[in-house]
Amino acid sequence: MTENNLINGQWVGSDSGATFEVHNPATGRVVGRVPDAGAAEARRAVDAAWNASSAWAGRPAIERAQMLQALSARLAEDREDLARLLTDEQGKPLAEARAEIDYARSFFEVSAQASALIRDETPSVPGKKIRVHRRPIGVAAAITPWNFPIAMLAKKMAPAMAVGCTQVLKPAEQTPLSAIALLERAVASGVPAGVVNLVTGDPAAIGAAWLEDSRVRKFSFTGSTEVGRILMRGAATNLPRLSLELGGHAPMIVFEDAAVDRAVEIAMAAKFRNGGQTCICPNRFLIHRSLHDDFVSKLANRSAALTSGHGHDPEVVLGPMIDDAAIEKVEAHVADAVEKGATVVTGGRRRRVEGFQDRFFEPTVLTGCTSHMRCWREETFGPVCPVRIFDDQAEALALANDSDFGLASYVVTNDEERIRRLGDELRTGIIGVNDPGPAVAGVPFGGVKHSGFGREGGRWGLEEYLELVTVSAIDLASR
Ligand code: ADP
Repeated sequence: MTENNLINGQWVGSDSGATFEVHNPATGRVVGRVPDAGAAEARRAVDAAWNASSAWAGRPAIERAQMLQALSARLAEDREDLARLLTDEQGKPLAEARAEIDYARSFFEVSAQASALIRDETPSVPGKKIRVHRRPIGVAAAITPWNFPIAMLAKKMAPAMAVGCTQVLKPAEQTPLSAIALLERAVASGVPAGVVNLVTGDPAAIGAAWLEDSRVRKFSFTGSTEVGRILMRGAATNLPRLSLELGGHAPMIVFEDAAVDRAVEIAMAAKFRNGGQTCICPNRFLIHRSLHDDFVSKLANRSAALTSGHGHDPEVVLGPMIDDAAIEKVEAHVADAVEKGATVVTGGRRRRVEGFQDRFFEPTVLTGCTSHMRCWREETFGPVCPVRIFDDQAEALALANDSDFGLASYVVTNDEERIRRLGDELRTGIIGVNDPGPAVAGVPFGGVKHSGFGREGGRWGLEEYLELVTVSAIDLASR
């Protein structure tokens, strides 16, 4: 029996004893096995979180902060083991896996610090003494995706733990082992039984069990817009607070004043992280006509030179796609673009890597892309750069905003006036200006439109797990 779900401080299996396998996406080999749990185990996890709730909320914030810091230190100690496990089950290159552990740690650090800033407020109202109190919202549920299996969980655990919420967590089926490894470190850092609980298994059954449970007061989800909608519909009965970090379809605009080499540098750094399987990576490249040909030829040369393979090989910068469905989608998007008139400048096909699964895709640059192409409208989640020419700023912004999604956008320019106005002109939650990595733990991360709502990071992330209570008092003695 595989006993690596965490409920009330105990490592347990599924009720039926059933398990499912976790595979290395590069080799196809089984790297582990986890419980195939469902609604009953999910409800028991809520029981545990509910029972642990008041004691955890009642602890001094400083103690919780110290626990977060202890967890961060433990992750630093175990960085190499965790990174190797992450590469094994997720496929990303080891250097990126290490960076993900550091990124995850930064959420525990930042949340520990930010919890000291959570204070009551006392707005002045004539004749009354008002206190606006912030209290932990209660039991929080989180469902996370496979592309950043440790960091996504950390983004949800850190703020919830910092403010005194207890949690029930479900990682993605592709990557539960990293989640289990993180929870093992949480237990080892002294996090009490029931404060964090982890269940693996049937996503729909577990999600529904949590939505149907009126004790769950917060639901935080990162994943597809489609599943986000299912959860939002399911939330209509018990009305938990929702945070939905959904799909992205980031534009990158390279304006005429940009240096092409620098723009290509930024594009490479932003695009190919995790093989393009990143919700904030650029998916639509808008290049000013005067720079287009130079940019495309340099981007194509740099892209084609990227080495694919097993993430444990230090030469490798591009791992496999997570599964067959993922690579089939990338292939379908490229085929659709070509059929509708795009030109493949480089890539466009699967890349055979000797000795490994057929899950690698060539870094691809497509030109002549139009709004009718799937790659221009939907998230491809692969190493594909669709490029399009623009002539003036108004056209670039209109094209950039012509999307249902609104998570991130990127701009390469030095024009101060243009930069100043971007915050109002680009309809995304995050804007990177000459910055390929705008997601750091101390700042708000989240989207608008079909990319969802809610913010993670810094004190803004903590607010998502707090509710406001207005205590309005009239002093009897003064009447
Ligand atoms: P992706 O396409 O990136 O795999 P998904 O939205 O399908 O994104 O998956 C993100 C997370 O949502 C995973 O943990 C997955 O198990 C979970 N999930 C998928 N379907 C449901 C569902 N019906 N209810 C709750 N969670 C779900």
